Amino acid sequence: MHERRRKFWGWGWEGEGLTREELKLLDPVWAKRLGVSEFEITPPPAAEEISLRLPRIAIPSSLKEVCTIDHYERLAHCYGQSFPDSVRIFQRDFSNPPDVVALPRTEQDIVDIFDWCGSTGAAAIPYGGGSSVVGGVEPPRSEHYQATVTIDLRNLNRVIEIDPVSEAARIQAGTYGPALEAQLKPSGLTLRHFPQSFEFSTLGGWIATRSGGHFATLHTHIDELVESLRVVTPKGIIETRRLPGDGAGPSADRLFIGSEGIFGIITEAWMRLRKRPTFRAGTTVRFADFYKAADAVRVISQAGLYPANCRLLDAQEAAMAGAGDGRHALLVLAFESADHPLDAWMNRALEICGDHGGEWDRTALEKSGSHREGAAGAWRNAFLRACYLRENLTARGVLSDTFETAITWERFADFHSNVKDEVQRVISKVTGNRAWVTCRFTYIYPDGPAPYFTFVSMGNKENLLDQFYTVKRAASDALLKHGGTITHHHAVGRMHRPQYDRQRPELFAEALRAAKREFDPKWMLNPGVLIDH
Ligand SMILES: Cc1cc2nc3c(=O)[nH]c(=O)nc-3n(C[C@H](O)[C@H](O)[C@H](O)COP(=O)(O)OP(=O)(O)OC[C@H]3O[C@@H](n4cnc5c(N)ncnc54)[C@H](O)[C@@H]3O)c2cc1C
Repeated sequence: MHERRRKFWGWGWEGEGLTREELKLLDPVWAKRLGVSEFEITPPPAAEEISLRLPRIAIPSSLKEVCTIDHYERLAHCYGQSFPDSVRIFQRDFSNPPDVVALPRTEQDIVDIFDWCGSTGAAAIPYGGGSSVVGGVEPPRSEHYQATVTIDLRNLNRVIEIDPVSEAARIQAGTYGPALEAQLKPSGLTLRHFPQSFEFSTLGGWIATRSGGHFATLHTHIDELVESLRVVTPKGIIETRRLPGDGAGPSADRLFIGSEGIFGIITEAWMRLRKRPTFRAGTTVRFADFYKAADAVRVISQAGLYPANCRLLDAQEAAMAGAGDGRHALLVLAFESADHPLDAWMNRALEICGDHGGEWDRTALEKSGSHREGAAGAWRNAFLRACYLRENLTARGVLSDTFETAITWERFADFHSNVKDEVQRVISKVTGNRAWVTCRFTYIYPDGPAPYFTFVSMGNKENLLDQFYTVKRAASDALLKHGGTITHHHAVGRMHRPQYDRQRPELFAEALRAAKREFDPKWMLNPGVLIDH
C-alpha cells in the first residue's frame, strides 16, 4: 500500500486541503474584500520540477539506516510554515535544502548523529512537525557550517507509560498531537493541549517553543503541563526529576522549555494529564463595542472564574470567520470540567458580560456538544480549516499573516489602536491597496490579554517577500515600541531575532550564550535561533 506523505509545499497530507467547493465559495468573498475582479493562481510546485543542490556530506555506513538523502524528504524539510516560507515555495526557491535528513529511532542514534555532525562541521536542526512560523527549522546559510543535517523526530512517537494515580504520562517527543491523544484515550486521561497546529506538530516542538494550547486561562502555555524532561545535548543527557512542584533553585526544566532546539533535543517528557471533561457550558456573547467587550473579558479574568475558552473576536475578524455580522465583536465563552456542573461559573461570567453591554441568546446556552453549532461552531470550523488558507492565499498573491503579543490591561486600549493604525498604514503604503487588520484575544490573564492580529491585503507576486518583510518589521517594531512582547506563543526562531534581541536584557543573553557553550560546545544546534556566538 502507498504510504501517505505530508505535502512538501503546504499544510497537511498530500491530496488534502480546501476543497474545490470551499474555494468556489471563498474566491468571490476574498476578491470582493481585496478589491480585485479575479485572481491569477500560481499552481503549487511538483517534486519532479525542483532540482536540489547535491548533498555536501556523505552519510557514514554506521548511520545509513537512520539517515537519508531522498529527494522528497530533503524538499519537505527545507521550510517551516511561515508566510515567507510559503512564498519561497511557490516561487520554487529550494536553494538551501538540508543535505541529509536523519530519522533517529533511539537516543543513541541522536548521540551518534551529534558526533557525526561535530566531526564534519555540520549544523544540526531539530525538527518536530515543522509547523514553525518563525523560521525555526530552516537550514542556516552561514559559511561557518559545511552542511546541514535536519533531525526529524517522527520515529520517537510513543506514549511509553501512564501513571493513572498522579495523572501523568511519559511521552516521546516526536509524537504528533492526534497520535498522542489516541494513545492516552483508553486511560480516560488527556493532555488537552490543542494548538491550532495540533494535527501536524509534536510534543517536543510544543515544549521547545512554549506553545499555546486551547485553554484561554491558567494552562495557556505547555509549560505548566511539563512534569519532567529528558534532553540529549551534544555534551551528554539530562533528565530531571518527576515532581509536582520544586523549590530547589532555578528550574532545569524551565531552561529547556522554550530553548527552541539550541541546547539539545528533548527526547521525552512526563506530562501532567487530566480526566476528559464531561461537563461543559458555553455560549457566544455579542458586543457593539470592542473595548467594552475587552473590559468584560478583563473583569472575567480577574474574577477567578478561569473559563477554558474566552476568545474575543473583533467585529471584522468574527465576520471573516463567518461567525458575526461585521458590526458586533463576539466573545466565545466556555467552561469545562470532569467533575462538576458549571452553571454557576457561566452565570457569573454572563452577568459580567451583561454589565458591559453584552447580549446573548438566553435560550441557546449549551451544555454539551453544541459548541460545534451556531456562531461558536462556525468560528471553530473556520479556525480548523484556517491552516489550509495560507497556501491558497499565497497562490493568489495575497499578503496575509498573523502576529501575536501580550500587554497589561491598563495599556491595552492605546496599544491596540496604535499597533492597528500603524500596521494598517504601512500595508496600504506598501501594497497601494486596502488593508485589513483584525484582532482577537487567544489567551487572557488577570493582568492582561494576549492580542492576536491578522492582516490581509492584495499584494504583488513580483515582490511579495519584500512587501512582507516591510510590514513584518513595522508590526514587530510597533509591538515593542508600545510596550508588548515580540511573541506570546509563536516563539522567536530566526524571524523574531531583531526584536527579541532588543527586548531581552543583554546580561541574560550572555547567560544564554554561556549555557549554549556548555551544552553545545561546537555550536552545531540550530544556529541563528535565539542567540549568536
Ligand atoms: C497553521 C498553524 C497554526 C499554529 N497554531 C499555533 C497555536 O495555536 N499555538 C502555538 O503555540 N503555535 C502555533 N503554531 C506554531 C507552531 O505550530 C508551534 O510553534 C509548535 O509548537 C511547533 O511544533 P512542531 O512540532 O511543529 O515543531 P517544529 O516546527 O518542528 O520546531 C519548532 C522549533 O522547536 C525545535 N524543536 C522541535 N522539536 C524539538 C525537540 N524535540 N527538541 C528540541 N527542539 C525541538 C525546532 O528546532 C524549532 O526551532 C501554528 C503554526 C501553524 C502553521
